[in-house]
Amino acid sequence: MKHSSLIKPVLDGEYPMISHGKGVYLYDTDEKEYLDAASGAVTANIGHGVEEIATAMVEQAKQVSFVYRSQFTSEAAEALASKIAAMTDDRYTWSFFVNSGSEATETALKIAIQHWQEKGKPKKNRIISRWMSYHGITLGALSMSGHPLRRERFTAILESYPAVSPPYCYRCPYNLEETSCGLACAADLESAIRRIGPDNVAAFIAEPVIGAAGAAIAPPDGYFPEIKRICEKYEVLFIADEVMTGFGRTGKMLACDHWGVEPDIITFGKGMSGGYTPIAAAVMTDKVIEPILNGSKSIMGGHTFSANPQSCAVSLAVLEYLEKNGIFEKAATAGVYLRNLLDKLASRYSFIGDVRGKGLLIGIEFVKDQKAKEPFPAGIDITNKIIGLAADNGLLLYPAAAGLDGVTGAAIIISPPLSINKREIEELIRRLKNTFSQFAETLLS
Ligand code: PLP
Repeated sequence: MKHSSLIKPVLDGEYPMISHGKGVYLYDTDEKEYLDAASGAVTANIGHGVEEIATAMVEQAKQVSFVYRSQFTSEAAEALASKIAAMTDDRYTWSFFVNSGSEATETALKIAIQHWQEKGKPKKNRIISRWMSYHGITLGALSMSGHPLRRERFTAILESYPAVSPPYCYRCPYNLEETSCGLACAADLESAIRRIGPDNVAAFIAEPVIGAAGAAIAPPDGYFPEIKRICEKYEVLFIADEVMTGFGRTGKMLACDHWGVEPDIITFGKGMSGGYTPIAAAVMTDKVIEPILNGSKSIMGGHTFSANPQSCAVSLAVLEYLEKNGIFEKAATAGVYLRNLLDKLASRYSFIGDVRGKGLLIGIEFVKDQKAKEPFPAGIDITNKIIGLAADNGLLLYPAAAGLDGVTGAAIIISPPLSINKREIEELIRRLKNTFSQFAETLLS
């Protein structure tokens, strides 16, 4: 066979083959070591090769790996739902399990619409999202996503969900200063609801910290409390997409906890299993489920693999690991340490426009001109160039879109496993410094 038949992101591209991983490191078959400063795709939150997760995997496989959710429940699925309820202080007592973040947001959309149907308000079926956002690749999730590069081939068949401004303070859509802006971006949600009519709006969906579509854009402190106030005023459900941020990525169980805001529905994915198995969830409050419980008693959604005991047991083991090892607190401390070192490093390079984020979800936006915040002519090429140089230096980074149009900006996300220690953070910085210095040399040459 001349070529591999596996479809890869670049079909004929060459990709190193990973043989194993341990902690924050991955190793390829040529024995090259990579410090995984991206946690893969902001996913491998407890690091690679954790023995006790492997043990939990085997134990469950010996018991039973699959039962069909329409016929049976399982101890693992029940225990996982109870664990999530306990970890959210019994605020999110209902969990619906799926297999990917895209399915989770798509499920959240359907639950929101069904909630209003069962309350006798079937016209409340529009979802509002923000024009810098990523909620997934399936058509419903992509419809809600303001990610031009991922949408462009499919716009003809996507719902054109109304989108509102993101809280992108580095490039404020209104050209205002953060201290005196009056949260114009949050007010945009109120305008959108009034324009569309509250009777037609089911929900507003947002990532607490914008990930792939904006490189770790954290909002000003007053933003989400104001969003929640607006949602309550107009009876619009608030869906927080915590697929990237949930389970400690920002130093707290939920990113929304930073602002004391309680969404009606939350979506989880990625860190929910730390990459040890595909699993995701839409979780909700009693208020959301009530009309469905009193009505049809069934959520119209689900997949063959939904709530399969194998994935549930693995996810449960990961969540127990997070708690047992105090990983949220460790992530908060590591986030401060890494951010300080990154800020210092950034001050040495003229092409770094902004360092931002929360906890261990940190974004760096690159610019041609720091003062004018002028982007490089080909944003995506610059991002790929830096990521390529970093990989040569044994450092893995995550690409992100940036710029008000979501295309022209160049940016990366730094999101190492939450278990990363001080020495490993210093090694990450050393490899990043080499990368940035090499990039500066190529810029000048
Ligand atoms: N939501 C957010 C915030 C994400 O970051 C992602 C993936 O990057 C998704 C949803 C989609 O998740 P998945 O790739 O597992 O379908």
